[in-house]
Amino acid sequence: MMFPVLKHFSSGEFNHPELMLVPFLYWLDLVRDRAKVAMVITDDARLAGDVPSGGSITSLHYRGRAVDVRSRNWSAADKWRVAEAVMFYSNQAPGKIELELVYDADGDKHWHIGVDDTAKTHQLLESDD
Ligand SMILES: [Zn+2]
Repeated sequence: MMFPVLKHFSSGEFNHPELMLVPFLYWLDLVRDRAKVAMVITDDARLAGDVPSGGSITSLHYRGRAVDVRSRNWSAADKWRVAEAVMFYSNQAPGKIELELVYDADGDKHWHIGVDDTAKTHQLLESDD
């Protein structure tokens, strides 16, 4: 897929920009614009078979529908703005939101922000993975 021109993200910030779903990227850009919080992408689309430890083989990452964003540098106010922006635009997303706050053992906390076209409800999850 052609990587679109976005206000806040460029293809170089993604490991597999060619595998990202374009409508998801436009939606993520909207969220980033509203939140006004820097987003460092630590994981994005994954190749089939490229399963990180603790990762699910059915993850939205394999369909180019999720990113992981580093959260350890965010203030409490930043986190609020990101969560608010995700929720503000939830019904414009190309699917139901999967927002997961992940507290990695290695300390690199991240928020998994995905959009699932097969889900019936938006979901807010927490994980120790
Ligand atoms: Zn993720």
